This record gives sequence, C-alpha cells and structure tokens, in this order.
Amino acid sequence: MEKEIFEKYIKAGEIATKVQELARKNAKPGKKLLELANEIEGKTIELGGEIAFPVNLSINTQAAHYTPSFDDETVIGEKDVLKIDIGVHIDGYVCDCAFTIDFSGENSKLIEASSAALEAAVTLAKPGVNVREIGKTIQTEIEKRGNGLKPVSNLCGHRVDQFHLHAGTSIPNVESGNYVLEEGDTFAIEPFATNGKGEVVDGDQTEIFLYTGEPVRGRLPATKKVGELIVEKYAELPFAQRWLHRDLPELQPFSINVALRELQLLNFLHPYPVLMEKGKGLVSQAETTIIVTKDGCINTTPIHRT
Ligand code: MN
Ligand code: MN
Repeated sequence: MEKEIFEKYIKAGEIATKVQELARKNAKPGKKLLELANEIEGKTIELGGEIAFPVNLSINTQAAHYTPSFDDETVIGEKDVLKIDIGVHIDGYVCDCAFTIDFSGENSKLIEASSAALEAAVTLAKPGVNVREIGKTIQTEIEKRGNGLKPVSNLCGHRVDQFHLHAGTSIPNVESGNYVLEEGDTFAIEPFATNGKGEVVDGDQTEIFLYTGEPVRGRLPATKKVGELIVEKYAELPFAQRWLHRDLPELQPFSINVALRELQLLNFLHPYPVLMEKGKGLVSQAETTIIVTKDGCINTTPIHRT
C-alpha cells in the first residue's frame, strides 16, 4: 500500500478513537439520541475528519442502521444496550468502528462476547489466513460464553476501499466464506453477538440511504430538489434523512419524506432499513478497521472491553 493511503487510514482511526471517547463520555441514560448523534458527527468534523456514514445508535434488539430522525425524541434508557457505530474518512479512506455500552451492567457477557471475538479476529488476521477461519474464531469466542449467546450470522465484516464502505469481500461472523487475506488489504471486522435467534431482519423504519448513481428524475419539484442535493453532497457514501432536513430548511418535512419515497421508487436511492434481531434478542457489536501488513495487521481503533 502506498504510504500516503496508509497514513490516511491511520489518521481516520485516530480521529475515530477520539470521537469514540467523546461518545462514551456523553452517552448516558436520559440523553436524547439526536443530541448524541449531533455531538458525535460534530466532533468528527471539528477534529478534521469527514463523516463516512451517519452515526448508528442502535438500541437493544436493533442490531444496526438506526440513526435518529430529524425530530427524534428517543432518550437512552437506564437498562439499554446501545451500539455506537462511527465512520470517519480522510479523502474517502474509511475507518468504520463500533462499541457497545450496557447501561444496566446486567449484560456483561453479551458485551464481552463481541469484544473478545473482535480481539481474537484481529489477533488472527494476517496474510495467508482465510476469512473462513476468522469467522470460525468469532463464532467460537461468542458461543463458548454460554448463556445462549450466538453470533448474528447474516451480518458481516467487509472490505473498505476509497469511498467504498462495503467493497466486495466479506468477513463472516460464522464459519463461512472463502478469501485469503493479502498484505495491504483493508477490512472492517464486526462481530455481533445476541441472545436471540442469531439473525437480523429488516425493520419498518429507514433513516439511512445510499445514492445509486441514477440521474435525477421525479414528478414533484421537491423530488428534484432533494435529488440534486443528494448528487451534490452525498453522491458517494451513505447519508441520513435528518441531514436533508438540515440542508433544505425551506422544504416541509412532509415534502422531504414524499421526495425520498419517490426517489426510492425510481431506484435513485438504496435504503438501509433498521436491522432487527429476528428473535427479539439483545445485540452487542464490536468493530474496528484493520490494515493487513506483511506479518499481521494494524488495528486503527482500540477494542472496547466494556
Ligand atoms: Mn460500522
Ligand atoms: Mn462495518
């Protein structure tokens, strides 16, 4: 890997680490998720990073892809299990990282399972290792803790590339897949543990979208306006619905929602619905982005044990 690119991944990781510290400090029961999201995204910019995707603040049985709506009133509960999944990029080189907070302290095994699985996976990652072995290790680390804990089998780690968050190859959380790591590979590894069924399904709500590359069309003036803004500002990486409300204050919230619906029907947008655990189990997540080196890997963010 070119030195310059390597340094950008490292820099993104350093900023993400500082943003994680702020997130941990500010996430408390009674706090509004919307406020926390604004603090996290604001800190990313303040530190000289760019936002790779809307911060995911998924609670309890939500596994991923929840980010607050523009008028979100959700408050963190005393017993919530909160996943904080942050994306920072420098010139498109993404650090994707996450940790889980268990506010009640009653789910420590669940949190430990995903963290220990991530640690084992990072320890294992080097050239010549098949992602299948990494998946197996993740699965074993989670299951050996008992309590009915299992990995979420249909969520995976993924290659990251410039302005590509999910760039092809996956790193499974179970013994599956077939790709041998090479020096210079950059991957996000993200074990999810649950006491539910070990599978996620699409929920009803969608707050995060990705532009597909289709030209701007649409019947309604608001659709054109929203579409043009997306092409201008969010052409490459996922964005949050709430960002559009901030960017287009002249449009009624209702008009933005209708425009988003029309843009989805025109295949202009790919939706990322909130992912829910199929058996309504609690879900924990630990994630980091690694660079595979000659004889191991560099981990760009710390692994959070609690
Ligand atoms: Mn992530
Ligand atoms: Mn990821």
